[in-house]
Amino acid sequence: MSLFVWPEPATDFVSEVIAPEAYQTGCYFVFKGSDILLRFDTAGQWQPMGHAEAAQFNGTASKVHYMGRMADMPCFAVETAGLEGETFGGLRSLFGHTDNLTFSLAGRAAQIVDWYRSHQFCGRCGLAAIEHSQDRAMICEVCKIHSYPRLSPSIIVLIHRQGEVLLARNQRFPQGMYSTLAGFVEPGESIEETLIREVKEEVGVNVTNLEYHGSQPWPFPNSLMLGFHAEYESGDIVLQEEEIADAQWFDCQQLPMIPGKVAISRWLIDAYLTRLGIPIES
Ligand SMILES: [Zn+2]
Repeated sequence: MSLFVWPEPATDFVSEVIAPEAYQTGCYFVFKGSDILLRFDTAGQWQPMGHAEAAQFNGTASKVHYMGRMADMPCFAVETAGLEGETFGGLRSLFGHTDNLTFSLAGRAAQIVDWYRSHQFCGRCGLAAIEHSQDRAMICEVCKIHSYPRLSPSIIVLIHRQGEVLLARNQRFPQGMYSTLAGFVEPGESIEETLIREVKEEVGVNVTNLEYHGSQPWPFPNSLMLGFHAEYESGDIVLQEEEIADAQWFDCQQLPMIPGKVAISRWLIDAYLTRLGIPIES
């Protein structure tokens, strides 16, 4: 099995729950509902809020979550009711306007804000929940249930067959765009079982020789994508019509429109092209 993780994992960030007692710098990911504060520099790069400015409204923010340190800079997820004169938008607004590490931190912040907002009450007895003092968890003192931020593991897979790849599109994709197949892990399933089941359900083919390539947190809303290559084994393409609008084998020299470099689907495709010796777009 070849393990090909690309891009490199973000090692500069250290996750922590308890904020330092004093700090003079900070990086703030500011939200209104699920939308993030949108500010861009003159080069079009998205900018988090800095420490001095955030300090002015920290007292009025609905909630400030400490996330950890990025190269010793404390990072925070901040929930607000909005800021006058400012624009907020979905996390997808950051695509193409930030590096992978910053995007992953914004996604982490969005999920922490969403988790906290969605776990104010115990899901079993309905009483108000309280925050754990040491962990990122909400607790019901009666039921003793701990509610951690939820993650939904998913597989994403590039199916290949001697220089061809099987790509699919669903109705929500932009016109003409094709991508790899993906699906959520069900309770009781191994990752490998999920992959084989999802491929069979969505396009009707059987695959073998699964190769794990790497993973990507995908905060829409809380997926963790586990990326594979899989070799075609048998079967004709039969579409699961409720989900898949079209699926085809494509020659790697003549690919259709595919997702941008922010997404693991693209990394999986590029990794296969590299394996074939086909130059990839930078
Ligand atoms: Zn309870």
